[in-house]
Amino acid sequence: MAVVVVGSLITDIISYVERLPQPGETIRGKSLFIGCGGKGANQCVAAAKLGAECTMIGKLGPVNDPLSRIHIEALTKNGVQRRLFHSSQDQTGSAIIMVDKDAANAMTSVLGANADLKPDEIDSVAESIQGADVLVAALGIPLKSTIVALKKGRKHGSWYLKIIFNAAPAASNLPSEVYQLSSVFCVNESEAEMLTGEKVDSIESADRSAQILQERGCKVVLITLGSRGAYLKDEANNGILIAAPPVKAVDTTGAGDSFIGALAYYMAYYPKLPLQTMVERSCQVAAFSVQKPGTQISFPTKEELPEELF
Ligand code: ATP
Repeated sequence: MAVVVVGSLITDIISYVERLPQPGETIRGKSLFIGCGGKGANQCVAAAKLGAECTMIGKLGPVNDPLSRIHIEALTKNGVQRRLFHSSQDQTGSAIIMVDKDAANAMTSVLGANADLKPDEIDSVAESIQGADVLVAALGIPLKSTIVALKKGRKHGSWYLKIIFNAAPAASNLPSEVYQLSSVFCVNESEAEMLTGEKVDSIESADRSAQILQERGCKVVLITLGSRGAYLKDEANNGILIAAPPVKAVDTTGAGDSFIGALAYYMAYYPKLPLQTMVERSCQVAAFSVQKPGTQISFPTKEELPEELF
């Protein structure tokens, strides 16, 4: 299996409203959308839509929980292999989101079964991890389970497979082994700031932040910068800003997941490409995703993208 993702699955229940309600107030929504999200599921589907053979490792609520079924359907539709666990007591992770006419939102997110993904369960699917070319791991599941996954990707102290670690949702500190086990450590601006204390608002500050992260032990650092693109600091300590193509964005939700899914795809299928080219192409893929509403449904398929990206 080329790409294995260990991470969260969240069912998004989104209502579109004229304005966000005040505490205690009930307002009428215009429409309701139920979709699949969670960083792990999004990154996996993003890579699969580009044509990667993918496996998703994560935890849902009970098998017959309707919120769990829609993930299974979405993963199946996108050709993703599943190594999913089911919790008998926790429901599938969910987010209740209200989006107003100006695209401002209010959200409650319940981790549910994601928070119950046990290190032993990751251990039981170690073969899937070790059979991959690229492992993508993020937060949103217990950190100790993430660490087991990262360790499974390593063999006898050498890089067994390439590991993209996405420190999202934001965390204020991480144990040193997480940095040391990552081949590519990927964060957005606010996640970088939370980990390093360095406000990322310029190329210089992105470089300082990346430097701090590298000093903690990761080889390559990538800081995504929204419409400005991504800052790459490579193994030789060279930093470069890779500009995002100028596009008219309609919905940037999940742009980071589209970017990481694409990077995993390129690392697995085009391992000889320079990393900078992989990042440039991942920026192009993510730029496509922001031009459509939604998350997983906005991720482009190979057929929708220009030939020169392949
Ligand atoms: P999310 O949490 O919504 O998934 P994120 O904050 O993790 O997003 P961003 O840094 O916003 O990630 O975006 C990831 C990548 O997507 C950027 O590096 C860039 O390549 C692309 N991107 C994001 N916004 C735009 C935009 N407005 N125009 C073009 N490309 C964009």
